[in-house]
Amino acid sequence: MKTILLASNNRGKQRELLALLGDLEVEILTPAVLGLALEVEETGTTYAENAVLKAEAFGAASGLLTVADDSGLEVDALDGAPGVYAARYAGHGATDAMRRAKLLGALAEVPTPRTARFRAVVAVRAPTGALTTFEGVCEGEIALEERGAGGFGYDPVFYIPERSATMAELPEALKNEISHRGRAIAAARPHLERLLSGSGD
Ligand code: IMP
Repeated sequence: MKTILLASNNRGKQRELLALLGDLEVEILTPAVLGLALEVEETGTTYAENAVLKAEAFGAASGLLTVADDSGLEVDALDGAPGVYAARYAGHGATDAMRRAKLLGALAEVPTPRTARFRAVVAVRAPTGALTTFEGVCEGEIALEERGAGGFGYDPVFYIPERSATMAELPEALKNEISHRGRAIAAARPHLERLLSGSGD
């Protein structure tokens, strides 16, 4: 059985990546299953740099075909913030709920629609060490208040007008179909299939 290692300790991302890659005939492992306790410092200034840092660290440590995701939320009224720093938006040790509250507070005086997008870059590291990146974007707006209990992170405040729902109100399968992560994985899929069939590096 071929194997893919997910270079993430984030439970929300792991769950979605497992579903998105679930149809490939591979065993999908998390760092915890391998006993790999790596804390990768996200020192890059772009999603691609950080995704590559994570794929490189976990891929080099395991020797396995490795998939990493770096993602963030870009709000136009905040000139693209929190962007690549979305995970650190309310400081270290903050919870997702604290980050959402800070975001709603920062936009309190901003009229609707507060346009925004989720962006994800997926980095694939082949066992040879070759690195390739793929991007996905999902457009939406920042809601006036939280709605929904699904997903993770900023999902309850990310409103998708075409669906009349926040990302957290969508069934997981539908989120995966339209999300930034779903789109980045769709772009990466042919490359992953080539690597798994042994016809690429
Ligand atoms: P990182 O990719 O681990 O640096 O962190 C991404 C940040 O963006 C975290 O704060 C996540 O909560 C947020 N984020 C990324 N993808 C999603 C998503 O699909 N839904 C909600 N928040 C997300």
